[in-house]
Amino acid sequence: MRIVERIADLEFPAGKTVGFVPTMGTFHEGHLGLMRRAKSECDIAIASLFVNPLQFGPTEDFGKYPRDLESDAARASEILDVLFTPAREEVYPAGYATNISVAGVSERWEGAHRPGHFDGVATVVAKLFNIVRPDIAYFGRKDFQQCAVIRKMVNDLNMPLRISIEPTVRESDGLAMSSRNMYLSEEERRTAPKIYETLCQTRDSILADGEVDQLLTRAKSVLRDAGFHVDYLAYVDDESLVPIANKQSSSTLICAAKIGNTRLIDNIQVA
Ligand code: AMP
Repeated sequence: MRIVERIADLEFPAGKTVGFVPTMGTFHEGHLGLMRRAKSECDIAIASLFVNPLQFGPTEDFGKYPRDLESDAARASEILDVLFTPAREEVYPAGYATNISVAGVSERWEGAHRPGHFDGVATVVAKLFNIVRPDIAYFGRKDFQQCAVIRKMVNDLNMPLRISIEPTVRESDGLAMSSRNMYLSEEERRTAPKIYETLCQTRDSILADGEVDQLLTRAKSVLRDAGFHVDYLAYVDDESLVPIANKQSSSTLICAAKIGNTRLIDNIQVA
């Protein structure tokens, strides 16, 4: 695996297919699974490791977001051909001025709780697509709304690549793997799987024709009783992310909840 810091040094042999995994590092099995998929489907597998300042709000954890390039490089080296680790100035040189904003699908849920977050995501992903020029880019379903935003951007702007969405990789107790899980205290870590457990129970009840509104109210109170501050727990249409009142195909339960100072997100397909 080559580690490349400069855009000018990113060159791939002609005629080879390129699979790309954008990340912010601190690799876990979720990231590594995306990389393995890229390598199995494309000639060249490349991941970017860039903690993107644009997608963090002023009170968020940009400064303390975990960073460990050496161990990330060691973990990815068996899978990737290239790890792209640009400095901030390489991605956003002085005078950088362009922003990409995907209206509608960016606005609810994460977008409402983290103003500007999806503009930051869309902007850096668009830049990375132009820099890497992949045939296929791989994203995790764990960040469900992010997937919807990226798909919409790619479609709206006729970007010449395919987006592949991979299933959420979980710990054995159901907690979705996340770089932020390392912020959890032991006690919080024991409570954290309650999010997935509650989503699974709610999904089953929706599929059994339960009343959606009542089920969401009950699920939120279960999480509050377990010690979470629930930002949202909603049943939404997969494409538009608009809330829906009755069971339908292409629908997902999404949740964001804080335990202590750590904000966790998760989701589960319903139908
Ligand atoms: P991040 O480094 O958190 O920006 O994530 C980089 C990519 O890995 C994104 O496409 C995420 O959706 C994906 N990802 C993060 N956690 C998981 C997980 N537990 N399972 C699958 N994909 C994940």
